[in-house]
Amino acid sequence: MDNESLAAAFGGQFDLIVVGSGIAGQVTALSAAERGLTVLLLEKTDRVGGSSAMSGGWFAFSGTDEQAAAGVHDSDSQFYDDLLSVGNQENDVALVRAFLDEQQNTYRWLKSHGAEFGELSISSGQTISRSHLTPIGPLLSKLQNRFVEVGGDIRLGHQVIRLTRDSEGQVCGVIVDLPDGQYEFRAHVGVVLATGGFSRGTDLLKIFAPEQLAAMPYGAKGNTGDGLRMAWKLGAGLADMSHINGSYGSHPDTNEDFHELLTAYYLGAIVVNKEARRFTDESQDYKTLGTAVLRQPGGIGIQIFDSRVRAMSRPGVPLKDIDALENIGHVHRAETLGALAGEVNIPTQELEDTVDRYNEVVRGDRSDDMGRTRLCNGVGHLLPIDAPPYFAYPARTLLTTTYCGITINPQGLVTDVNGEVIDGLFAVGEVTGGFHGAAYMTGTSLGKGAVFGRIIARTAASLIH
Ligand SMILES: Cc1cc2nc3c(=O)[nH]c(=O)nc-3n(C[C@H](O)[C@H](O)[C@H](O)COP(=O)(O)OP(=O)(O)OC[C@H]3O[C@@H](n4cnc5c(N)ncnc54)[C@H](O)[C@@H]3O)c2cc1C
Repeated sequence: MDNESLAAAFGGQFDLIVVGSGIAGQVTALSAAERGLTVLLLEKTDRVGGSSAMSGGWFAFSGTDEQAAAGVHDSDSQFYDDLLSVGNQENDVALVRAFLDEQQNTYRWLKSHGAEFGELSISSGQTISRSHLTPIGPLLSKLQNRFVEVGGDIRLGHQVIRLTRDSEGQVCGVIVDLPDGQYEFRAHVGVVLATGGFSRGTDLLKIFAPEQLAAMPYGAKGNTGDGLRMAWKLGAGLADMSHINGSYGSHPDTNEDFHELLTAYYLGAIVVNKEARRFTDESQDYKTLGTAVLRQPGGIGIQIFDSRVRAMSRPGVPLKDIDALENIGHVHRAETLGALAGEVNIPTQELEDTVDRYNEVVRGDRSDDMGRTRLCNGVGHLLPIDAPPYFAYPARTLLTTTYCGITINPQGLVTDVNGEVIDGLFAVGEVTGGFHGAAYMTGTSLGKGAVFGRIIARTAASLIH
């Protein structure tokens, strides 16, 4: 169907137009379609999925079957405390509460729509195992297929360039730029911006986070900040803009086809710079580490560990798969620290001294110069680095995401600079700000995209009836 007949088939307009086909857009579109709304999903690039399709597939949920099976006692209040702690108490608590109210329902909804949560793990920003892993590609395909089954329409290669408003100021449609001209699609409930972040948006990064231009740009190709600009133009508020941080640690040769990020430091590794010196507390969340590593010579941090940590590798599990990274030659191995230093071209004596001092901390003979007392975010006992062979993984900071953006209320409606709702305009996922505050907990970006997507579908359905 061409664009004119597509719009005509729906009486010239849809109930809801969703812009962007990552987890946030897909969950919103499908949930709304399942509620009986006519929904058009527009995607700028020639493939669905955005950064969601490139992601590790970790979702943070509490009170799950997997936690119960593993004997992990989590609660909404602990989840709340962790979110505010990692967010430095700067989170919009109304959004955090809305998320917590819906997260268990969303977890079950995702399971009923094809999520297969297997691995359960403690990760960045968590004081308890709360990250649930599902193969993300298959999940996105199932959501997409189901959306089409229930009558939804997806259009690839459709970049939305402008929002339109009716005479009363309500957002009522979008303008799409196509090779044969510009088309308007209209929606009587409204438009949902699910356009992701702006990790590829150099001009916006220059304004909001110039120091991050030194990080390796990553994330989906289409994530240049279009949604943020369109909402900004209508007066939308912005939140968390000063908290853009790359994630540490990806090998300098990582690429879009094979994304690698290793967090051996949460298992017991230390991180040293090119001078073989530690420079920060490695138990902090990996975005805080990302900024610390950007300030080091050459923007490199080298993870140093021994055979104890190496034995904790989890093949196939993102962030922990040391085997795969050793197989492709990105993890270096040597029988002595001196030989390892030679492998990665850092000073031998300094590395030996650094590891000696760290081992004294682990033995309790001294306090740590960097303030590290735990493995990860306040939990886990430090391990000595003294069981050869030794390993090194040189890694950089990668700008995968920008966890900041448009302000929304707990119903998912965009609010303006004065906190008032912009009628007809919703936003969901990485394009929004406020939920994370100063920093992100692993699994809460896919999580919030899904949770608020379902909330928006409910809000939109209530506005139609
Ligand atoms: C390598 C990597 C690993 C990650 N791992 C995890 C993880 O394990 N857990 C977690 O919670 N988070 C993770 N994240 C972060 C998470 O994946 C993203 O924050 C999240 O997927 C964003 O979802 P989204 O739907 O908001 O945006 P996206 O998935 O990025 O989708 C946005 C879509 O909007 C499209 N778009 C943009 N502008 C327009 C326009 N004008 N018109 C039409 N379409 C447009 C884009 O092309 C894109 O397809 C990871 C990110 C990366 C890069």
